[in-house]
Amino acid sequence: MLSLEQAVEKTLASVARMEPEFVVLNEAYRRYAAQNLHANVSIPGFDNSAMDGYAVISSDLKGASEKTPTSLQNIGVVPAGDGPDKKITPGCCMRIFTGSPIPEGANAVVMQEGCKINTNENRVLCADEVKPWENIRMKGEDVQTGDQLLTKGQKINTGALGLLAATGHHQIKVGRQPNVGIISTGNELVEAPKKLTTGKIYESNRTMLASMVSRSNGVPKIYPIVPDNLEETCSALKTAFQENDIILSSGGVSVGDHDHVKPAIEQIGGTVDFWKVSIKPGKPFVLGQVNDRALFGLPGNPASALVTFQLLVLPALLKMQGASDCRLAKRRGELTEEFANKGDRRHFARVSINSQGQVVSTGGQRSHMLGSLAKANALLDVPPASRLTKGDLVEVLMIED
Ligand code: AMP
Ligand code: MG
Repeated sequence: MLSLEQAVEKTLASVARMEPEFVVLNEAYRRYAAQNLHANVSIPGFDNSAMDGYAVISSDLKGASEKTPTSLQNIGVVPAGDGPDKKITPGCCMRIFTGSPIPEGANAVVMQEGCKINTNENRVLCADEVKPWENIRMKGEDVQTGDQLLTKGQKINTGALGLLAATGHHQIKVGRQPNVGIISTGNELVEAPKKLTTGKIYESNRTMLASMVSRSNGVPKIYPIVPDNLEETCSALKTAFQENDIILSSGGVSVGDHDHVKPAIEQIGGTVDFWKVSIKPGKPFVLGQVNDRALFGLPGNPASALVTFQLLVLPALLKMQGASDCRLAKRRGELTEEFANKGDRRHFARVSINSQGQVVSTGGQRSHMLGSLAKANALLDVPPASRLTKGDLVEVLMIED
């Protein structure tokens, strides 16, 4: 049986980075940069005012105070979005607004709150001194043309979008989103609103898997429920392989007479790379390969499907998109209760971590149990044969934002 690390190495190795594509910025949120990105222009692009006030020559205001204000001649206005049409010479100033370009000759902006305007004489009385370059945002002080903004493989967040837009980017190259086929197998599975009959249950894995695929930027495609027979499993897999970059199946990977996923992979010409990972829930996990495409055969128990997706599938989906960091985010927290693992496999417990960092179990932890899923936003890694106690500081793996 493989360790989790060995299994992750194999699922990562089973997929390749996909060809990148160009997208407009509005479609780039949460995607991964496929190249280093640089500034096309500087920010600020020109020296401009940080205040509403008057553009002045700072030495003109030397010694200015409430009692002895300096009187300057107001020679015009520089509105934001326009160029100044005049030059500032000693004894003169211009009305200026936040973001307006600094007129030639000026080297400071005096705030309008410190000035009195005599409109008739077109003169401004300034009651404050101002240092050279005070209240001026200098060209390139934030970002200079050519500066590297993002590194290849970096996730594009809201701030990155602002930065890219402000430096003149329109379209950028990002990793393509993998198309992910989702199949559930099982004679017992039905879909609501159909009525349940004896022995039947409502199918729940496909919608969970699709949401996790979407959250990791993949494009999910849900296929009809596949009954437990080899022929139909083969034909469902074939169709899904034709239409997707990667396949997720759930169920049918144990050793029962009705577990057809492994035989089906081989029947359609693929190979089974490994089966079984030393984790709980999620031990029966199959990695198959058909014509250079990966199939991740997840166990049918809902908690097992969720945990194996997070630990083994998500890293692969991120790698396909060119992400430089393919791991789940971690958060530090403090246990509010004991977690014991008497078994010999690592246990990934469904927990919730709140904004104060308190970690609590969300309920029943057996692999068929769904009751504890809705409240869970993280997984706690409880090592084999161990007991974590209340007050222990831990790191949990985040599975929700
Ligand atoms: P299997 O992995 O096929 O042996 O299924 C293990 C358990 O998970 C059984 O109790 C199944 O009924 C249940 N199960 C399998 N697939 C699903 C599914 N898609 N939705 C909900 N439960 C499932
Ligand atoms: Mg089954």
